[in-house]
Amino acid sequence: MKTDELIARCEGELADKFRLADEIAFINQSKVLDAFRKNKIALRHFAPTTGYGYGDEGRDALCALFADVFGAEAALVSANILSGTHALTVALFGVLKAGDTLLSISGDPYDTLQEVISGKGNGSLADYGIRFKKCGLKDGAFDKEAIAQGLKDESVRVVFIQRSRGYEWRDALSEEKIADAAAFVRGLGFTGCIFVDNCYGEFVESTEPTQNGADVAVGSLIKNAGGGIAPTGGYIVGKRQYIDRIAGRLTAPSVGAEVGSYAFGYQYFFEGLFLAPHVVAQAVKGGLLIGACLEKLGFTTSPSLAAQPYDITRAIRFGTKEELIGFIQAVQEASPVDSYVTLEPWDMPGYQEQVIMAAGTFVQGASIELSADAPIKEPYIAYFQGGLTYEHCKYALGRILQKLIK
Ligand SMILES: *Cc1c(COP(=O)(O)O)cnc(C)c1O
Repeated sequence: MKTDELIARCEGELADKFRLADEIAFINQSKVLDAFRKNKIALRHFAPTTGYGYGDEGRDALCALFADVFGAEAALVSANILSGTHALTVALFGVLKAGDTLLSISGDPYDTLQEVISGKGNGSLADYGIRFKKCGLKDGAFDKEAIAQGLKDESVRVVFIQRSRGYEWRDALSEEKIADAAAFVRGLGFTGCIFVDNCYGEFVESTEPTQNGADVAVGSLIKNAGGGIAPTGGYIVGKRQYIDRIAGRLTAPSVGAEVGSYAFGYQYFFEGLFLAPHVVAQAVKGGLLIGACLEKLGFTTSPSLAAQPYDITRAIRFGTKEELIGFIQAVQEASPVDSYVTLEPWDMPGYQEQVIMAAGTFVQGASIELSADAPIKEPYIAYFQGGLTYEHCKYALGRILQKLIK
């Protein structure tokens, strides 16, 4: 079959899922616009600021806006949060104290958090006397028996959930499952902080973890919530008591969220949040299309095409290292930036294995833009995500299919 016929057939079969993605985008777009109106966002909020940034109206408005969109009491949104890993690190150091235990109930946290949690002599949580325990998922769901057992330890002060799959062969956790787990944990009498790594999950569904029982949620602005426009940054949203403590960590306990300037101005952060619901829907549809087409060619992909996705990633299992690398290279070749570059695996900071990453993106490493990456290890799985426009996903898919069919 010709590649364009295969793509057209899959698009037809995905019509209902595409319609649902558009409906979710409309609900989220409405939520974002309601928050813009409520906070009376105006041109003056985009102005550059310098130095301490005392009374920085743009910064304060951006935080208030994120808090409202995420149904949270407060937020920290900043270009001084350098990445998702940094946002998660600052937030964990903010909510945990010596003698506390961090309990993950979704298995191993994301690769770049391993050293943050358990590193030796590098300023990790462990170095500061904070313990770590975990319960794995069971058949893709929370393991309630293990959670109840874990919470018998009274030093547990943070229950940690990773919404997206990370580098694992599992579906992202739905908001329904997260709400159920949060209620279960509370039902056991837990009074500490329910904490969600929200990376890749924002705006994929019509509610966010902070609307479903989480006390804190954290993400990167070069993923979903930056709409492909934010040049850098991260966000942390949640209960006021936690956000205040985390602000003391991000800056200093004496000044918290009262300081912080940005000499380039805040327009792209506001505009990025405005665009995010639409852009996320483009990426969701792109991921569905590539999944459907590759399954027709006999590849196994995840999440299952039977359900609506709960994050913007798609994992694809390849038979050989060469096939995997060929796929990642095809994504790079279909990119608007650095399309002529031939990719090779490298030792990316924070990861255990070598990683190969296609990121021909306008913002360096922005994985809300069409991108794909893979740790070089068996089984050979590529993680594909993002796409600012559905059309770009479709264009890239055409090139990928041509390569694979050859
Ligand atoms: C990307 C990601 C992170 C880390 O974010 P960076 O911006 O790459 O540091 C953490 N958790 C999850 C689930 C992610 O997808």
